[in-house]
Order: sequence, then structure tokens, then C-alpha cells
Amino acid sequence: MPQASRDLKKKRSWQEALSDLVTDPKELLTLLELHPDWLDAAYAAARLFPLKTTRSFVARMQKGNPHDPLLRQILPLGIELQESEGFERDPLKEANVNPVPGLLHKYAGRVLVTLTSACAVHCRYCFRRHFPYAENNPGRAGWEKMITYITADKTISEVILSGGDPLAANDRLLKQFTDQLVGIPHIKRLRIHTRLPVVLPERITQALIEWMVQVPFDTVMVIHANHPQEISSEVKAALLSLRQAGICVLNQTVLLRAINDRAETLIALSEILFEAGVLPYYLHVLDKVQGAAHFDLERDKAFQLHAALGKALPGYLVPRLVCEEPGKASKTVLSTALFTG
Ligand SMILES: *Cc1c(COP(=O)(O)O)cnc(C)c1O
Ligand code: SF4
Repeated sequence: MPQASRDLKKKRSWQEALSDLVTDPKELLTLLELHPDWLDAAYAAARLFPLKTTRSFVARMQKGNPHDPLLRQILPLGIELQESEGFERDPLKEANVNPVPGLLHKYAGRVLVTLTSACAVHCRYCFRRHFPYAENNPGRAGWEKMITYITADKTISEVILSGGDPLAANDRLLKQFTDQLVGIPHIKRLRIHTRLPVVLPERITQALIEWMVQVPFDTVMVIHANHPQEISSEVKAALLSLRQAGICVLNQTVLLRAINDRAETLIALSEILFEAGVLPYYLHVLDKVQGAAHFDLERDKAFQLHAALGKALPGYLVPRLVCEEPGKASKTVLSTALFTG
């Protein structure tokens, strides 16, 4: 079909976009006009953790630039295959806080629930890159156990839908799950951790917003963006529509070498997110997962960057610098006050 008549056709639904991801390294390199030199390594690394990205995310990458900060988040590289000391397969020891399949109860008052194991993109640095998703995604058959667990523990006041990406599931499934929470008197808040508003902004439909507004809990959405180039005009519009519906939207970022390790980049990210109605929440130092060592930054460098943000931005635009340590009662806030450099 010629381009013009394709443009005239109705805009694709989010389901169509989600079933038409780029998963072949060759196609990715062709779309971006990159040299096929990268191909063998990409195929080798993709065997361990497949390539996956939305076309919308690819459209925001610069053609011909192998160092593009969005490309580097999703392109499998040969360096991932190197074993690195101090990097593990389950760095957060999540297997220890997994009382029923699909549910993690690590911190007081809140549980993290996995409704689907799918994500729309595979972020190469993801700490769940080795997580046995399939085993830990019981599907609907596992809901009863999760609901029983949540009902029995009156200290739980918040349910966090996380990933996989919960918005990869359709509205009906989301509603069917939250309907089961409605009868539980101690649940006050519903939180959604998702990268879809950034990598597939079409997912933020009026119907989704209505579900979030109608659910009888306070709702919070935590999105995940690492670089200002991710916030296209479509993403901005999607985020603003959440904000206009009265939904609290926060962002978390992972600090990544050669992607967002300059103060200007992180400052621009906070500013563009605020224009889209989003406040910064966490700036995570990398979890030491095997295959992601090339993204790691020295701790001093992280402190330096965070201090630079504090100097340049109003306090509400400075994310908390955190790391995760297994066995701790919360994420660990790294205090820049300790940094003297
Ligand atoms: C990060 C995380 C949470 C949420 O922590 P907050 O500090 O409330 O954002 C909850 N459960 C698990 C397992 C987590 O990893
Ligand atoms: S869970 Fe989040 S960080 Fe990990 S691959 Fe999915 S979208 Fe990326």
C-alpha cells in the first residue's frame, strides 16, 4: 500500500502496535541505517535475553547513530555475554520474598503483583533479565492465592501492579483483577509501575483512564523514562491526559553509563517530565545483574550527578537517589550530603 493511503487509514490500536514489535536485530539495524557489523553480537546476546522494542520507540532514535541513547537501552551487545565479578543473576534475591507465585512482599504495607510476564520493550539493564518470569506468572489460575494472601494480611494497604508490564494486559483483565481487590477493606491504594506510556503512548486510552478513575482506590502511576529524547509529543500528550484526569504520575529512572550520565541530560529529563505533568520519584543506581556491567557507574560519579541536580533544580524536580539492597526494609536512599567531592 502506498504511504499516502496508509496514512489515511485509521490510527492503529495499541493492541496492533503491541503485536507488531521489532524483535529481529537485522530489522532494527536496517530501520536505523546502521552497519550490519553489529549483527552477530546482537544475535548472540539476544539468545540470552531477546531483542524487543516498539516501533514508536525506534522512531525516536537517530538514524545512523550507533550510540543513540534510546538504541543503547534495547540493542543486544556482545559485551553482555562477558561474566563480570560482583554481578549476579538474581541480585535482589527476589526468590526470598515470593510467598505465592506472582506476588512479591518485600516492604511493609505494600505488595508487588505480576499479572503478565510480557513487556513491550526489553531493557538490556533490566534486573529481571534472568528472572524466571514464566514460572512466576501464574496467570489467572494464580489469582486466588494472591487474593487470599492479600486478604489475610491486614498490614497491606497498597497493591502495586508491576512487571512484566501490567499495561501490556488489556483493560478487561486489569478490571477483573482490581474487582477482586474491591472487597478487601485494608486496601487503600493501587499503584501501576509501567513503561508503556513512554514506549507505547497509544496505550493511554480514554477507557484506561476511566478504569483508573473509577477504581475505588487512590491511584498512582509510576512510569519509567531514562532520557529526555524518550518524551515525544505523543508521550507528552498521553501523560498530560493522565494528569488531567487527576492521576498522580511519577517517574523512575535508572542511572546508565553512556546514556544519561551527564547532569544536563538528567536536568532536561526532569524539566520535560514536569511539562508533561510528571514528578521525578527515584533515580536508581544500577542493580548488579549479570550482563549489565557495562551500564554501571562509579558510586562517586552518581553522587556527583545527583549533587549537580540539586544545585540546578527546585527540590521537587530532584529524584531521590536510591539503590536496592536485599533484606532491607526499603530502598536505600543514598545521601549526597555524604559526598564531599
Ligand atoms: C521497589 C519495590 C516496591 C516499591 O517501593 P517504594 O519505595 O514504595 O516505591 C515494592 N515492592 C518491591 C518488591 C519493590 O521492589
Ligand atoms: S520490567 Fe521494566 S525495565 Fe525490565 S524489561 Fe520490562 S520495561 Fe524494561
